[in-house]
Amino acid sequence: MSHTISRRDFNKLLLTGAAGASLGLFGAPGKAFGASKKVVVIGGGFGGAAAAKYLRKLDPAISVTLIEPKAVFYTCPFSNWVLGGLKTMEDLAQTYAVLKNRYQVNVIAETAVAIDPHRSTVKLSGGTTIGYDRLIVAPGIDFKWEAIPGLTESVANTRIPHAYQAGPQTILLQKQLLGMRNGGKVIICPPTNPYRCPPGPYERASLIAHYLKEKKPLSKILILDPKDKFSKQALFKQGWDKLYPGMIEWRAALTGGKVVKIDAAAMTVTTEFGVEKGDVINCIPPQKAGKIAFETGLVDASGWCPINPVSFESTIHPGIHVIGDACVAGSMPKSGFAASSQGKVAAAAITRLLQGKVPASPSLVNTCYSLIGPNYAISVAGVYKLTADGIVEIPGSGGLTPLNADKDQLSEEASFTVGWYNNLVHDTWG
Ligand SMILES: Cc1cc2nc3c(=O)[nH]c(=O)nc-3n(C[C@H](O)[C@H](O)[C@H](O)COP(=O)(O)OP(=O)(O)OC[C@H]3O[C@@H](n4cnc5c(N)ncnc54)[C@H](O)[C@@H]3O)c2cc1C
Repeated sequence: MSHTISRRDFNKLLLTGAAGASLGLFGAPGKAFGASKKVVVIGGGFGGAAAAKYLRKLDPAISVTLIEPKAVFYTCPFSNWVLGGLKTMEDLAQTYAVLKNRYQVNVIAETAVAIDPHRSTVKLSGGTTIGYDRLIVAPGIDFKWEAIPGLTESVANTRIPHAYQAGPQTILLQKQLLGMRNGGKVIICPPTNPYRCPPGPYERASLIAHYLKEKKPLSKILILDPKDKFSKQALFKQGWDKLYPGMIEWRAALTGGKVVKIDAAAMTVTTEFGVEKGDVINCIPPQKAGKIAFETGLVDASGWCPINPVSFESTIHPGIHVIGDACVAGSMPKSGFAASSQGKVAAAAITRLLQGKVPASPSLVNTCYSLIGPNYAISVAGVYKLTADGIVEIPGSGGLTPLNADKDQLSEEASFTVGWYNNLVHDTWG
């Protein structure tokens, strides 16, 4: 998925001043540089909400409209904590009140049903059409329902939840765990790369194990993985051995982890090596960019949206910026922190473009904490910059919890996780 750019193109990307603008590297500056300054943002998740807020902070002369059908947004970060009995759904709830009232973002509770990139308009589910000078598309992910026979959207909504978009899916999985017998088997099937939150399925296994250890200690968790390695693997496995010995089994692709069929009626998962029966099955399908990105032709063959890494402007449709999980942001993982960081970079780039200037070369950040037990967390952090290879992590810029971290360090990481979450949601919606 790495989209390498040529040295010549890279030098072009970093050109500053009028020269860059005259090369037409950033869409249609003539059109954008005018009196209207209207930016429309589709999607009020981590990327879109941060972009809307920061556009208003950076230049109050820009009128910002945010299209998001949900009145309450439940964050995926900390949704595994809900499954572990450590948080409630209310703890995850974010609203758009501050964006509306303090930042005067025009929030419209509808779905964007069509984008016309040539006329620069967005059609809404209520039937109205609105124009824009610049558009930000931040729809998050969609699922490849055709990838696993037997796993349809309706099966996921009733029997085999993915719980990879927080809300009713999280509640369904939680109910199933609460209703499961002591001695039951939970099967978790993580997706193929690339997908939202690489450590997400493994943090989930950890926190479900925490719940089971307390309430249903005879139960087991089986992870059937289509991959042969996963994010922070050594740290997760160490945590599982320490906190939940014998409870979690991880099966790699090579040892029969790849799922080839789901039978929701029989509650079975068929792998290349045999059939497994589960009491609760959490199968997370492979992913692609959100629907509106496909319908607008913003995706390439990878199923994700290629962008100019300076401004996050689409390389397919000028004037439209794609941020968050839906875009290809080099080696940045698809995370809420990354999406929020990209929202700010896109807001800064658009502000400059609307002022007739060329965007500055960005610096992006990602920090990701995973809770393994109530007093046991691990983290990874990195700073990213633009190079000829696209957006890459600056070597030595970040860090990973060391394998020899002691109890106090792991417990400190757990309390930093709470501060990290509170800061991130405040920065995005508060
Ligand atoms: C279990 C789990 C745990 C996670 N934990 C972490 C973590 O600890 N740290 C971390 O950084 N990240 C974490 N993530 C990842 C994080 O949730 C995503 O990377 C992040 O939500 C991506 O932000 P986004 O803005 O791209 O998409 P989203 O946050 O999903 O927002 C997309 C929004 O767009 C809206 N939308 C879609 N289509 C339209 C349309 N046509 N019109 C209008 N609105 C539309 C949707 O309603 C949605 O509100 C986790 C994910 C999961 C599943």
